[in-house]
Amino acid sequence: SGQFVSGATTGFSSNKSNPFFIVGAPELSETANIEAIQICNINSDDITTQIWFELVKKINDLAKREDVAGFVITHGTDIMEETAYFLNLTVKTAKPVIVTGAMRPPTAIDADGNANLSLAVRTAASQDAYGKGVLVAFAGKVIPARHVQKYSADSLDAITTNGSDTPSRHTLKSEFDISKIKELPKVSIIYFHAEADAELLEFAAKRSEGIVIAGAGAGEFSLEFADVINNLEIPVVISTRTNSGNIHPEHLICKDTISALTLPPAKAAVLLRLALCVTTDRAELARIFWEY
Ligand code: ASP
Repeated sequence: SGQFVSGATTGFSSNKSNPFFIVGAPELSETANIEAIQICNINSDDITTQIWFELVKKINDLAKREDVAGFVITHGTDIMEETAYFLNLTVKTAKPVIVTGAMRPPTAIDADGNANLSLAVRTAASQDAYGKGVLVAFAGKVIPARHVQKYSADSLDAITTNGSDTPSRHTLKSEFDISKIKELPKVSIIYFHAEADAELLEFAAKRSEGIVIAGAGAGEFSLEFADVINNLEIPVVISTRTNSGNIHPEHLICKDTISALTLPPAKAAVLLRLALCVTTDRAELARIFWEY
């Protein structure tokens, strides 16, 4: 038996009398006994911490049930990588948790929702996915949440991996426990580009508890940016706008900043928000980025 938890999605067409009977993928009922729960039905760009918390609590509660073997979360593709990574860091179960979605509406001639959903349900029902952390099933691939990203605005395989597969701490081995947290600290991402306005960075820092810089190349920025960063009191994490590669900590331009390593900016912000619930110590934050 499995749980099909529906979040933000636009890609599946359901039968009116039973909203969770997927019209184009009736064989799913032969793969697993599916029970459906709707947490929300929104554009994923409108996702909130409260929705993430609700989703985690629901999964953690249901995971205690012996007759539940795994979970499938349907989700809009825009913010999918952030939700998947957030779940990877906060759910407390070894049972498979699989996130999926669609790039095309169900009415499109090349609709991809049913194939993705079918892959997700088969993965959630498989022993191979047990203990692997949160996985994303998309366009024929099953990708660990730590390495997944939306790399294209419109292609069918937009949700894919940067190829990196460094192991990372997740689920039962994660130190993050949202059961005692009401809100996540605010973190802002500032994108560096030629002649980027350093005052925007100062403004963002006044309103945030942490900053992520989407730096150029290997996490670089101008002397003007470096001056502002060196004077900030809040933690600053350095990532890259290039969508790939590692920020080597020994090459960081500003002392006391933290490398996001291979995490893209949006996912670095997810980890920093959770990490700031535990510590503001720079060495501890660097340890967290290293381990997750
Ligand atoms: N904007 C939509 C969302 O992320 C795109 C999709 O459904 O894939 O919710």
